[in-house]
Amino acid sequence: MELHVLIVDDSPAMRNFIRRVLDLSGLEVSRCLEASNGEEALRVLEDHWVDAVLTDINMPEMDGEELLRQMSAHPVLRSIPVLVVSTDRTEARIQKMLTLGARGYVTKPFAPETLRDELVQSLGGGDGSN
Ligand SMILES: [Mg+2]
Repeated sequence: MELHVLIVDDSPAMRNFIRRVLDLSGLEVSRCLEASNGEEALRVLEDHWVDAVLTDINMPEMDGEELLRQMSAHPVLRSIPVLVVSTDRTEARIQKMLTLGARGYVTKPFAPETLRDELVQSLGGGDGSN
């Protein structure tokens, strides 16, 4: 399985770290796109299909919650699994993101295996459309 993923985070260092974790994960990630906020992510998704989106929550311009809202309301983008990767570990926030349609939630800092396992789980929990 060749995976195309989109990493959304306002921290370039965090995007690089997630990219390296994916490189070393054993998953066949053949394409890693990046965006620094939700708005940029939506623009990337207009032109590129991805198998999964990994998104931060706290970002300027458009945060991860609004990105998730817009993706979930979109007829095509709603089928793309979204994994949230955030420092926010409050239960209310986690539940809210899952209710809005996130397939998984990883809190920073995370172990590489945790991110890999959550991503695999997010990909597997399909809605039956693919
Ligand atoms: Mg952030």
